[in-house]
Amino acid sequence: MEKISVAVRLRPSKNDDVSPGSFWKVEDNQISLHKSADTASSLSFAFDHVFDEESTNARVYELLIKDIITAAVQGFNGTAFAYGQTSSGKTFTMNGSESDPGIIHQAVKDIFGNIRMVTDREFLIRVSYMEIYNEEINDLFSVENNKLPIHESLERGIFVAGLREEIVNSAEQVFELIQSGEVNRHFGETNMNVRSSRSHTIFRMVIESKGIDSSSNFDDAIRVSVLNLVDLAGSERIAKTGAGGVRLKEGKYINKSLMVLGNVINKLSDSTKQRGHIPYRDSKLTRILQPALGGNAKTSIICTVAPEEVHIEETKGTLQFASRAK
Ligand code: ADP
Ligand code: MG
Repeated sequence: MEKISVAVRLRPSKNDDVSPGSFWKVEDNQISLHKSADTASSLSFAFDHVFDEESTNARVYELLIKDIITAAVQGFNGTAFAYGQTSSGKTFTMNGSESDPGIIHQAVKDIFGNIRMVTDREFLIRVSYMEIYNEEINDLFSVENNKLPIHESLERGIFVAGLREEIVNSAEQVFELIQSGEVNRHFGETNMNVRSSRSHTIFRMVIESKGIDSSSNFDDAIRVSVLNLVDLAGSERIAKTGAGGVRLKEGKYINKSLMVLGNVINKLSDSTKQRGHIPYRDSKLTRILQPALGGNAKTSIICTVAPEEVHIEETKGTLQFASRAK
């Protein structure tokens, strides 16, 4: 197992609180909590990378994701997660904005760019897009395609049965598909942000290639790699919102699946001890990602945090999750 890269990204502040009591400060690969401008920090965390509020998606991609993409084209599985409370910047990091395209956009562009430079292999690229909402898997490429089961076979390994996979030939084609997926996702929703913050979204690319030269040798073998780009559900604790009914049910599913994800990643990143049983089966999310997480896969986690003082407890929670993943 390759080391899991863990990064934290602090988003820009939304209020112009001129004299906050406590605030987060980023220095090199550290983030620390300061009680006031001139006191030393009482709490400090270090990660592979810490991105301050001025860092762009382009930079996050360059430092954290690009290697995964290069490896994926060469046949290695890869997964990148955005983890954090609602409104901390997960979707901004994954999907980006007009002027600063997100990780998915850059990954798709780079994959097609990299493939064009490989002249001795031919490629087949397939994409799919799904959400996990209340432990149900829904196809974002097809509105009617809901509550899909997970199957396992010798031939295909673990897969989501009935999930639409589109064969794609260009980055533009992928962007159009994602766009249509976004429309499906919001179909019938009164509040699209509410729904999206309560579901996990997995954008998946399967990259298959084989050598063109018929005088085949080992290098000409078929290679298949799976790349998952995952925008996780908001990690905030439910108690805070005083939720009941539907919200409470959603919250329980989210807490459970994020906890299982934390446990799985914690085991995977543990190179010292005997790993023992890895609890992939305890949630749909980890089950779906299982084939792409073990082995010589590359994994990055970007934990997004909010700078505002009101969010300090949630931010601490996210930094603790990130620390467990190291
Ligand atoms: P999440 O997906 O975690 O709920 P969003 O990505 O939707 O959060 O971010 C919440 C808001 O903050 C959005 O309006 C988004 O555009 C903005 N935002 C988040 N991160 C950044 C950033 N690094 N730079 C500029 N704006 C950001
Ligand atoms: Mg979001």
